[in-house]
Amino acid sequence: MRVNKSTAVQIGNVVIGAGNPVVVQSMTNTDTLDTSATVQQILRLTEQGCQMVRITAADISQAENLYNIKNELIKRNVEVPLIADIHFNPKAAEISAGIVEKIRINPGNYVDRKWNPNFTEKDYYNTLEKAYDNIFPLIDICKKHNTAIRIGVNHGSLSERVLFKYGNTPQAMAVSAMEFLRMFKEMDFDRIVVSMKASDVGVMYRANKLLVDMMQKEDMYYPLHLGVTEAGNGTDGRIKSICGIAPLLLQGIGDTIRVSLTEKPENEIPVAKQIAALKNIEQNMLGKTFDESDVETHIIYNTAKTAFDLLENKVSKDEVKQGRTFLSDQQAKDVLQALGIERYKAEFVACPSCGRTKYDIESALEKVKSALSGLKGLKIAVMGCIVNGPGEMADADYGYIGAGNNTVNLYRGKELVMSHIDEKNAVEELIKIIKQDGKWQ
Ligand code: SF4
Repeated sequence: MRVNKSTAVQIGNVVIGAGNPVVVQSMTNTDTLDTSATVQQILRLTEQGCQMVRITAADISQAENLYNIKNELIKRNVEVPLIADIHFNPKAAEISAGIVEKIRINPGNYVDRKWNPNFTEKDYYNTLEKAYDNIFPLIDICKKHNTAIRIGVNHGSLSERVLFKYGNTPQAMAVSAMEFLRMFKEMDFDRIVVSMKASDVGVMYRANKLLVDMMQKEDMYYPLHLGVTEAGNGTDGRIKSICGIAPLLLQGIGDTIRVSLTEKPENEIPVAKQIAALKNIEQNMLGKTFDESDVETHIIYNTAKTAFDLLENKVSKDEVKQGRTFLSDQQAKDVLQALGIERYKAEFVACPSCGRTKYDIESALEKVKSALSGLKGLKIAVMGCIVNGPGEMADADYGYIGAGNNTVNLYRGKELVMSHIDEKNAVEELIKIIKQDGKWQ
């Protein structure tokens, strides 16, 4: 158990870690250059109880516009801490660090982005050194402005450095975070939060547990941000999030959470609050009881407990199917499907969308789901952009990715099969590809 073991990190008016209540956060999906739309969405999020809001800062102009967004919020007396989401662009990170309270960087793409098939042990150390040099100016700015950093590792976008040494594994994810944690320690910077996200619940769970072990061995207790990425929408998205986040919270692991749904961002907050509340009843793992009349909490707790028992091999899938948990038959099936242990229908991996999204991903996901749900055993990804989408759709069998101007790119695994096809025909084209592959059941 790691209960209350993490250190405290102050982010604006919010403290993460050190036994404080779990902080609930989300992310905008508006265009960051559209100040008014972004501010309105942040207001809707805070009304629901969102305590920190992340915003895409894809380039310099978006990073600079964080200043206008912040000012508009200040005019309205809204003090919610803002987080800039950075991929690929150190300059955008450095500008954002002088404006917002926290920066999220992805160690997988902060420095190196190209796959080098002849990567060597020497390249491993060279790219690590390059990462150190690239991150140094950012740390300097963060120290000056009291800005925190989240090291946000994503299973779908690991650096070629760790892929070369550890493969696409939970261990590679934990090592990726440790590389940056050691660098930050050397630079005497400790306003740090760490996350290990994956769309696969088991990978996300194991990566977090491994990271906690690795950190403890080096006397590090940074707070953890938990989330299952690309969880999808509706009941499926909610159950995946419960199965990934809650078993960790029940062990005292996790200090802030984001439930990623392919829905309006404000829909994430009520679910996140229910999951966060589980940390307060984590003592139930030790045999205490809680309010019997709270049926919804019971279902979430039993879902989380069943997922925990499956992930820790304390119960077999047959025992779950035979009803040896407190779940109904359907709930038991949902947990087995969410953990990828048994598939009763197609699995959909879908990103929550963000300021990089250039199409209506919510309705795209609905269309794809209603056409392909029956394809039991297949994993289909619906992603918002072609910059990060292809890398982050994990090991999906097929990908449906927004390519801008109402067009879609279709993938078979990682292979681009059709590009820039009219969105109106995209589902039909995907069906044709699946039929050609003999996988239409
Ligand atoms: S894949 Fe989705 S969430 Fe990720 S950057 Fe692209 S649009 Fe945003």
